[in-house]
Amino acid sequence: MMENPVRNIHCNHVYEKETTLALIKQKKRKGIRCPYLGCQNKTPLAPQDLLEALDFKREIAKRKQSEL
Ligand SMILES: [Zn+2]
Repeated sequence: MMENPVRNIHCNHVYEKETTLALIKQKKRKGIRCPYLGCQNKTPLAPQDLLEALDFKREIAKRKQSEL
């Protein structure tokens, strides 16, 4: 379950923010591509390309509520 979902502006894939930022830092020299299998986006991940996925956040909040 994601806490801080962010969306890649290049391919619209959504990741967990903390995990992805940590990965970007780790692989700084080579860069990393979108980890989604079969994604056509070849642009290396960069923190400025990740925007908060508000719709995803809303979905998570909704799901959490329905679990109560
Ligand atoms: Zn992607």
